[in-house]
Amino acid sequence: MDACIFCKMVAGTIPVKKIHDDDACVGIHDINAQAPVHALFFPKRHIATLNEIGVEDRELLGSLMLAATRYASESDIAESGFRLVMNCNKDAGQTVYHIHLHLLGGRTMAWPPG
Ligand code: 5GP
Ligand code: ZN
Repeated sequence: MDACIFCKMVAGTIPVKKIHDDDACVGIHDINAQAPVHALFFPKRHIATLNEIGVEDRELLGSLMLAATRYASESDIAESGFRLVMNCNKDAGQTVYHIHLHLLGGRTMAWPPG
């Protein structure tokens, strides 16, 4: 998708430091971190929202979760705890329309989220 910033990061036309890169997905630091650790994991293939996923995406979604939890471990927040979040559409506050999994940790978080 030409206009999508995450697709441009995958293609390399927007340079970004990758903290994870495999066949299926990429991990980056969030530019506007909301916690000491705030990373984003997204598929290399463009999927705009969670409303577009299908059964064929089960493995892909598992890859995102695996990459995020491995990075949590590497960042020493696995034991203290972390949160994984995917926002879908306007009410959830989605701003980048290429699905991504937020990994947040390194501080105590409130529940319910705002
Ligand atoms: P959403 O609100 O869609 O769930 O999350 C989008 C996230 O992408 C936000 O936390 C935002 O800070 C992050 N983001 C937006 N543009 C960029 C960018 O150009 N680089 C990086 N590293 N993160 C970005
Ligand atoms: Zn995209």
